[in-house]
Amino acid sequence: VSTWSNIVEGPPAILGITEAYKADKNPKKVSVGVGAYRDDSGKPYVLPSVRAAEKRIFERGTDKEYAGITGIPAFTKAAATLAYGPDSAPLKEGRISITQSISGTGALRIGGDFFAKFYPGEKTIYIPAPSWPNHKVLFANSGLKVKEYRYYDKAGIKLDAAGMLEDIKNAEPGSIILLHACAHNPTGIDPTAEQWSDISKLIKEKSHFVFFDMAYQGFASGDINRDATAMRKFIAEGHNVAVAQSFAKNMGLYGERVGAFSLVTGSPAEKKAVDSQLKILIRPMYSNPPINGALIASEILNSPELTNQWLGEVKGMADRIIVMRDSLKSNLEKLGSQKDWSHITSQIGMFTYTGLSPEQVDRLAKEYAIYGTKDGRMSVSGINTGNVEYVAEAIHKVTS
Ligand code: PMP
Repeated sequence: VSTWSNIVEGPPAILGITEAYKADKNPKKVSVGVGAYRDDSGKPYVLPSVRAAEKRIFERGTDKEYAGITGIPAFTKAAATLAYGPDSAPLKEGRISITQSISGTGALRIGGDFFAKFYPGEKTIYIPAPSWPNHKVLFANSGLKVKEYRYYDKAGIKLDAAGMLEDIKNAEPGSIILLHACAHNPTGIDPTAEQWSDISKLIKEKSHFVFFDMAYQGFASGDINRDATAMRKFIAEGHNVAVAQSFAKNMGLYGERVGAFSLVTGSPAEKKAVDSQLKILIRPMYSNPPINGALIASEILNSPELTNQWLGEVKGMADRIIVMRDSLKSNLEKLGSQKDWSHITSQIGMFTYTGLSPEQVDRLAKEYAIYGTKDGRMSVSGINTGNVEYVAEAIHKVTS
C-alpha cells in the first residue's frame, strides 16, 4: 500500500471562480473576483515607476547574494517610514523592530508565530466577521486561538459599530485584536474617525494588543498618509502596535512577495531583543527573504523622483476605482433601480460588498458571465468604462 493512500482530496484553497471565468466563452464575461488591480482595459498593470526602478537596478548591476535574515535594510527602513510616517515618535526613538516578509501574508504569519511564542497576555486573536478568509487559518496554524468580533451589519450594509465595540469589550482582557488599517477586505467598510477613536479608547481600557493588517496603504483613498491615519492615531494614543505591510497592491508587486512585519516596542533595548528573536524565528522558516521585489520597492522609496512618480500612480489606481464606483451606482440609478446603492460609493478600496445574495451572485455568473464571490463581494478593479453599463444592467436585472 502506498504511503499517501490515506490522503483525501481537500477543497480547493480558493473558490473556483477564476477557473469558471476562464472557461466561459461569453465575449462579455467579466471577472469581479480578482483581488488584483486591472487597468481600464481589464489588463494587469505594471506601474511605470516599477519599470523605471527595475531599469535602474539592472543598469547598476546587482549581484544575487543572500539578504540578511530580516531582509534588505534600505527597504525595511523605507517601509517603516512609509507606514509610521517620517515624524513618528517610536521611529525617531529607535524602538520599532522591523523585518522584511514574504508579502502581507508572510508578515501576518511572522506576527502570528511571534505572538504564539512570546505574547505574555491572552493568546487569542480576534478578527472581524467577516475578514480576509486567510486570517482565520493562518493564525490558527500559528498556534493562536482565533475568535471573531462583529463587524458587518448585513441589513444596513454598514459597520456594526455597536456590535464591534461590545465584542471587543467582552473579550478576555489582554487579547490581540486584528484591525484592517484601511480598505477592509471583503466589505470595503472602514470605521469613521470618530468610531476609530472609540475603538482605540476601548482597546486601551481592556489592555488589548492591536495588530494592524495594512495590505492597502494608498489604495483606499489614493493618499498613503490618509490611509495610515488610523494606525498612526493608535500609536499617538500610546498603543504599541504590530503592523503587517504588503506592497502587493500599492506597488502592484503581487508575485514579487514584498512586505514587512514590524512591532513597536517600549525602548531601543527592547527592540534589540525583539530583533534577535525575530531572526531566531525566521531563520528555520526560510533563512532569508527574496531580494528582487524588495530592491524594486527600495529603489522607489529611496529616490524622491521615483517616490513622487509612484505616489501619482497609486492615486491613479485608487481614483480609477473611485470613478468606477460612481459610474456603477449612477448606471444603476439610470436604469431605474429602486434600491439604495449608496454603499457602492461609500465603501473604499478594491472591493464593494454589494449586498447581493448567493442566488443573485449565481444568476450573475450563469446568465451574464459575471463572476464574483458568493458573499456578494465584487472587485471594482474588474470593472471599467467598457463593461460598467453591462455590469450595472446585470445587477439591476438580478435585483429587481
Ligand atoms: N491582508 C488582506 C486584508 C488582504 O486582502 C491581502 C491580500 N488579498 C493580504 C493581507 C495579503 O496579501 P499578500 O500576501 O499578497 O501581500
